[in-house]
Amino acid sequence: MKKTSEIIISMQDICKSFPVELGGIQQVLFDINFDVHAHEFVAIMGPSGSGKSTCMNIIGALDTPTSGVYELYGRDITNMTADELAIVRNEYIGFVFQQFNLLSKRSVLDNVMLPLMYRGLPMSERVRRAREMLARVGLENFETYLPNQLSGGMKQRVAIARALAGNPKLILADEPTGALDSKMGNEILHFFKQLNQDLGITIVMITHEFDIAKYASRLIHIRDGRINYDGKMPKTDDKL
Ligand code: ADP
Ligand code: MG
Repeated sequence: MKKTSEIIISMQDICKSFPVELGGIQQVLFDINFDVHAHEFVAIMGPSGSGKSTCMNIIGALDTPTSGVYELYGRDITNMTADELAIVRNEYIGFVFQQFNLLSKRSVLDNVMLPLMYRGLPMSERVRRAREMLARVGLENFETYLPNQLSGGMKQRVAIARALAGNPKLILADEPTGALDSKMGNEILHFFKQLNQDLGITIVMITHEFDIAKYASRLIHIRDGRINYDGKMPKTDDKL
């Protein structure tokens, strides 16, 4: 396996605009440039409205930029169709969202098996792998539960097990502790750190809080759609 030189995410002069009323446009991202290498744990931080989720949607192949080039794992995805983007997402990325995004009528086990649906694996193999992931997040005894029978922290652990089930190169988390109290939030953040350190999974986490960002080792700080800091995690956020 190649070491840290392997580039997972390459954002090159990325701009994003949205149409607004009266035929105008609002530019949200301005010439965003950064690379993320394999095994990094990066926090993208900025105040509300700074463009973090817009950036995450592009990184996660949920949306395409207005201009610029975005390469995910060496593949230019800028001009892919919606179907091609869906395949790239399923193959490379595990998503963790603030509101968990679990299917409420499906069991914990079904939820974790979801990313494996398109992999052409036999059912027994999907079940085996989903159980392994649930054990990894400490929820092996909850596979028959429905999401609303679980606490917020447990729901987020199910979402992490689901993200891991597809064996992604990258975990993308948008405000993953935003709906949790600080104790459960810290548990989730420790867990991310462990996944990054022990399994070498690349993690990009979006947050507006420095206390959360600082679990990562690199900080990309965005303000008004522009990067104003990209480097080693600082000790404090005084200078951001
Ligand atoms: P953050 O996640 O940092 O809070 P967002 O990326 O969600 O910021 O939003 C940044 C700006 O882009 C906001 O002004 C928001 O209104 C605008 N925006 C985001 N998505 C859209 C969209 N689909 N259409 C129009 N404007 C949008
Ligand atoms: Mg957001």
